[in-house]
Amino acid sequence: MDDVHFPDSYPMALKRTKQLERKLEKSPELYQNIRDQIKRYLESGYAHLATESELNDAEWKNGSYFLYQSRDQWPCTGRIDETNEEARGVVLCHAVVDAAAVSRWVKLVRVTATAVRFIANIQRKKAGLPTVTSKATKIQHRHIKAEYLTVQKPLQQEELREAETILWKQVQFDSFPDEMSALMKNLQHKPGLPLAKIEKSSCLYKLSPVLDAEGVLRVRGRLEKNESIPFDKRYPIILSRKHEITKKLILHFHEKYGHANRETVFNELRQKFWIPNARAAIQQVRKECVWCKVNRCVPRIPMMAPLPVQRITPHLRPFSAVGVDYLGPVEVTVGRRKEKRWITVFTCMAIRAVHLEIVHSLTTQSCLMAIRRFACKRGAPEQIFSDNATCFHGADIVMKKAMEKINSECAEKVSSTATA
Ligand SMILES: [Zn+2]
Repeated sequence: MDDVHFPDSYPMALKRTKQLERKLEKSPELYQNIRDQIKRYLESGYAHLATESELNDAEWKNGSYFLYQSRDQWPCTGRIDETNEEARGVVLCHAVVDAAAVSRWVKLVRVTATAVRFIANIQRKKAGLPTVTSKATKIQHRHIKAEYLTVQKPLQQEELREAETILWKQVQFDSFPDEMSALMKNLQHKPGLPLAKIEKSSCLYKLSPVLDAEGVLRVRGRLEKNESIPFDKRYPIILSRKHEITKKLILHFHEKYGHANRETVFNELRQKFWIPNARAAIQQVRKECVWCKVNRCVPRIPMMAPLPVQRITPHLRPFSAVGVDYLGPVEVTVGRRKEKRWITVFTCMAIRAVHLEIVHSLTTQSCLMAIRRFACKRGAPEQIFSDNATCFHGADIVMKKAMEKINSECAEKVSSTATA
C-alpha cells in the first residue's frame, strides 16, 4: 500500500481558482454571461441550488468517504496500473515551422531562424540577458534606447545555419525515423551491449549512414581521410526526395542556377546533399516551374500539306518535273581578276536526282542557256517549278513568246496554200 502515490493537487487547484477569479474581475461581460447561464440552468431545471446539508456532505468538496477510514479499508489495493491513454511514444523531433505553409526555401530558413531566436530570447530573458530582435516594436525601442534590455540586429549567419540544420534533421526524422532512432541509440551506447543496426531492407543501408556532431544524418563515403575536401563533400547530407522541405531546397537550387538543366542542378546539389533518385525529383521540380513552362515552350508544328502530284507519280522519266533554284554567288578567278558565278540546281521532283549548271550572271539569257544545256543533257522537262525569281520570270516570258511564235509559224505553214 505504501507504493500508492496520490499527487497533491491542492496548490494547482488554488492557482487555477485564483486565475479564474482574476479573469472574471477583468471582464465584467464574461462574469455576467456566466451568471446568466447558471440562471438559465436553474430555471430550466437542469440544476438546483445546493442546500446547506448538501454542501457539507458534498464528495467533491470533502473528498471520497473511504479516505476518512483506515488504509486497510480502502477499496484500492496494490499498484495502480498505467492506462494506454497515459502511455506516450518517444518523440524524436518537433517541427519548428510548418514547411507546407511557407513557399520558398530562403523564407523557410529565415522563419525557422526567427523561431529559434524567439526560443533563445526566452532563455536569455530568464538568465537576465538582453533579448535580440531584428525588427523592434515600440516597447522594444524604448528598451533599446533607455534600458538596454533589447539588442536590434538582423538574423546572423550562425542563426541561419542552425535553422538549416534543424530543417535537415526534420526531413531525416520524418523520412527515416527507424534509421535515426537506431543511430541515436548508438550515440549513447554502453560498452558490452550490442550496437543497434540498420535494417538491410532500408534504402539507406548501402550508404553506411552516420550522425555528425549536430545529429545530422550523412553518407559515410570513402573520402573521409582527404582533409583537403570540405566536410560537406566528404559526408553529404542525406535527404528524402519526397519530403516537402527537400522539394523547396531543389526548387531553390533550380532558381539559383538560372533554371538550368537537370544535370547542372544535380551536380550543384551533390556538392552537399545526397538525395536518393534526385534526378527524378529535379525533373519534377523543373516540370512544375512556371518560368520554365513559359520560357521553354515550343510552338506546335502545323500539319503539313499533301505532297504535289509530281512528287508521288511513279513510272516517269527522271527530270520530267524539276525544281530549279540558284546557289551562290561563288567567287572564281578569271585571269588576274575575281568574278562571280552562280550555280543552277535542277532537282527531279520524283527521285530527288540533282543536276548542276554554271551561270555567268543573273540575267534572263544566262538562265535560258542553263535550262537549254540541262534539257540537252537530261531531256526536256515537262514542268519546271521555281521561286519566281526575276531571271526565272524573264525566262518564262521569253519562252512563252517563242512558243507563240513557233505555234503561229506552224499554223501559217499548215493553212498556207503552198503546203496544200
Ligand atoms: Zn524553372
